[in-house]
Amino acid sequence: MNAKIKPKHYDISLEPDLINATFSGQVKIYINVLQDTHSIVINSVELDVLSASIEQNNRVFSLTTKYDEENETAIFHCTQQINPGDGILKIAFSGILNDRLRGFYISRYKDRNGKDNKLASTQFEPTDARRAFPCFDEPNQKATFSLCATIEENHRAISNMPEQKQCKNNDGTKTIWFEKTPIMSTYVLALVVGQLNCIEKTADNGTLVRIWSTEGLESKGKYALDVAIKILQYLENYFGIKYPLPKLDHVAIPDFAAGAMENWGCITYREPALLFDPSNSSSATRQLVAEIIAHEMAHMWFGDLVTMRWWNDLWLNESFASWMGDKAINSIYPGWQKWTQFLVADTGHALRLDGLLNSHPIEQEVQNPNEIGQLFDAISYSKGASIIRMLENFLGENTFRKGINSYLNKFQHDNASTDDLWECLQAESGRPVKEIMGAWIKTTGYPYIGLEIDRAKDVHEILISQKRFIYEQSASTKDCNETWPIPINTIDSNGKTSMHLLKDQSQKITIPKITQTEWVKLNVEQAGFYRVLYQNEDLYLLNEAVKQKLLGAADRLGLISDSFAMVQARLTPASTFLTQCNAYINETSQPVWSELLHGLRYIQNLIYGKGYYDDFTKYSRHLLKQIQSEVGWETNSNDDHLTSLLRSQILLSAGQFEDLAVLEKAKSELQNSLAMGNQIPADLRRIIYVLAAKQGDQELYDIFWELHSKSNFQEEKVRLLSALTQFQDPGLIAKTLDMALTEKVRTHETISVIVQSCGTHNGRKLTWEFMKENWKELDRRYGEGGFGLMYMIQALSGFRNNAALKDIDEFFKSNCVPAAELTLLQTKETIKNNIDWIEYNKTDLSTWSYLTEMK
Ligand SMILES: [Zn+2]
Repeated sequence: MNAKIKPKHYDISLEPDLINATFSGQVKIYINVLQDTHSIVINSVELDVLSASIEQNNRVFSLTTKYDEENETAIFHCTQQINPGDGILKIAFSGILNDRLRGFYISRYKDRNGKDNKLASTQFEPTDARRAFPCFDEPNQKATFSLCATIEENHRAISNMPEQKQCKNNDGTKTIWFEKTPIMSTYVLALVVGQLNCIEKTADNGTLVRIWSTEGLESKGKYALDVAIKILQYLENYFGIKYPLPKLDHVAIPDFAAGAMENWGCITYREPALLFDPSNSSSATRQLVAEIIAHEMAHMWFGDLVTMRWWNDLWLNESFASWMGDKAINSIYPGWQKWTQFLVADTGHALRLDGLLNSHPIEQEVQNPNEIGQLFDAISYSKGASIIRMLENFLGENTFRKGINSYLNKFQHDNASTDDLWECLQAESGRPVKEIMGAWIKTTGYPYIGLEIDRAKDVHEILISQKRFIYEQSASTKDCNETWPIPINTIDSNGKTSMHLLKDQSQKITIPKITQTEWVKLNVEQAGFYRVLYQNEDLYLLNEAVKQKLLGAADRLGLISDSFAMVQARLTPASTFLTQCNAYINETSQPVWSELLHGLRYIQNLIYGKGYYDDFTKYSRHLLKQIQSEVGWETNSNDDHLTSLLRSQILLSAGQFEDLAVLEKAKSELQNSLAMGNQIPADLRRIIYVLAAKQGDQELYDIFWELHSKSNFQEEKVRLLSALTQFQDPGLIAKTLDMALTEKVRTHETISVIVQSCGTHNGRKLTWEFMKENWKELDRRYGEGGFGLMYMIQALSGFRNNAALKDIDEFFKSNCVPAAELTLLQTKETIKNNIDWIEYNKTDLSTWSYLTEMK
């Protein structure tokens, strides 16, 4: 933006007025002017500049201000020439504390006395620091910051650095000065102001760690505090660099757009992503809290200490933090089998998105905030994390770690690019990292591998070939001929492994000898970001191995996941997948079930209302029978983590496949609890609410809203909101949607209400009508971009007919969404794929022998 000016230091003072939802401020920016100029361009949005001047060589010149709204800048003009050298830019300004969860914004909540209360918080990534103070708002314009805040006397203020001093003012306010930060980017600066409280502990390395929340909730931060201390130790040890700041705060914010934000030393979170109540929180929340803390803490080094030069390298920040966070979690909680879960949450998610024609390469040129905002998707987070895992697997754990260490040491307190990282890893490993990874980050999509083993011969050679995997099967996708350098490993019946690098379209590889009845599996532990299409006889042998649990959980998961993907892409008929599911009838691994159920639920949605729908759900219930009796309804205090997750997942699915006994049990458990006032175990609460709602009437509906109003624990409110989207009566669904736009529902939760009710058969069309009717308000709140807008549009992907596709297309022609253009294209592509899929599979699915297969 500004090659003429380089910021060095900011003195910022902010005075938020929570009652009137405004703020005023002053900033002194110590700049270095690089060439003669009469004007200074600075980022500024929705700010009123009250006065501006520049001081140079003890002379002060006042500046006139012009705004360029499109480019989100203010242009200061000086009649005198501004000379090269140091200068101080002084700006006084005022702004609004908005309700759109960006910049400097206001969060509303009921305090512990049930009274309406407010707090103010910042959320700057990617391009919203400019809404709080005029600044050079680009990641490579690093500077130091001294922040001070004038706030009400009974409020607390938290920022990146520890408090340095405070003083009382005559008007009932106080002013707090924070210590100067190290050099850093604007997007990780933070300030939170309100009636907050904390619990704290000093880690062994001397870092003060605190967990903050609105007053009264702080005791629910105990688990987070414990986890944060453990992760701090793990990360310092892995990176070999001490945590760079004197303290580390974690702050739960009532209204929050994303899950959390890695402000340096002052991480902010959505409440259920940080607060954990042992008697009211589920195991899923326990895991979520730990994972998010780990992800954000990894950013303290990777992102905050070393920062991407520009947003095109956002993926490196996000995918590294995701991968690193999971690595820390896997070390601290080995029983969670994080890397197997990773295949569902990250790799699976990314493979699905990246199988669309309208996906995008990991590394992409971006200029304006709309383009930058759209990068925050599963490609940047999950595909990136998956290919980092693939690379670590290929280079070896130790070599990889040494490469990371040299990268962080070399670029700390500075900016770096993806190429800089590859160079460090290349130097450490002696392998052509840049060449291998180039294709993975610059090319959209990923390959699937076909393999031919000639079992007639006593083979030890197989022909493997690659082709881009795309869900859409059409003339235009038939001749996609991109290739990737693919690290391919194999494992066979005898436990023998082999490792290869497929560089071309096809290649013969040699594997240890196997006999006619022995199997070989590619992509051991699913470490690679690709799919495999086996021939029927090979798949048959692998299924037998699955039945006998001769393969590890990740490999069992991979086989069913790849099979379903082939079905979804119409490379094999749906019944192949259904037959294969039978091999998993004794399966006990939670992530494997997750993947399998994903496939079944996808089919269930697409065939809803067809003649064979009942046979299909019956077959699905049959698949769940064994595991259902194993997990049962009884929760047990010594259940391990994955058993707890598995139980609620299996019972919920059984209910969704219309298991009458499960539905009945959910209803009676809820009735008992309401009548007797006893607590439903936290792990079962969501599914009992949801399954009861599926059969519920107006009376239950009103009870849920009442419970929702009474609860002051956000996780419980979120569960109840989920249930409120699941009633069958269209009138009740419509009412929930209307309520979602009132102050009863947090503005970030409005999105989940829309997404969940759009996921139901009775709610889908209604939700879409609701979105259209309320588009003006939805666009005002979320239209500028971010996760909310993207999730909302993506929710429409469940449609499966041309009329809906046409309607969506037409609506967005006249109501454009520049901040979610790509998501809209992906959604339309998915609906089209749904339609084609139903057509392709209708004979197969209506003639398949569901009932015989159940024997
Ligand atoms: Zn992140």
